Amino acid sequence: MEIIIKCPVCNASNNLNENEKICRRCKNDLSLLFLVKLFSYKYRIIFAQLLLSDNIEEAKENLQKATDLCKEI
Ligand SMILES: [Zn+2]
Repeated sequence: MEIIIKCPVCNASNNLNENEKICRRCKNDLSLLFLVKLFSYKYRIIFAQLLLSDNIEEAKENLQKATDLCKEI
């Protein structure tokens, strides 16, 4: 899975994946940011699945988790 992450050090936009988690410009390690955003996507997928099965309250909780994880990225 490829995820776009803006480097907090040099502001470069990076397309990161499981094998490439280093900023293309300044070479900083962005693996923790990658992991946080990956979990946010995971919660979004769970949110959609719960919504489709009419499990609204649990869906809302997962959407909130996804939102909280990506506030700072
Ligand atoms: Zn950078």
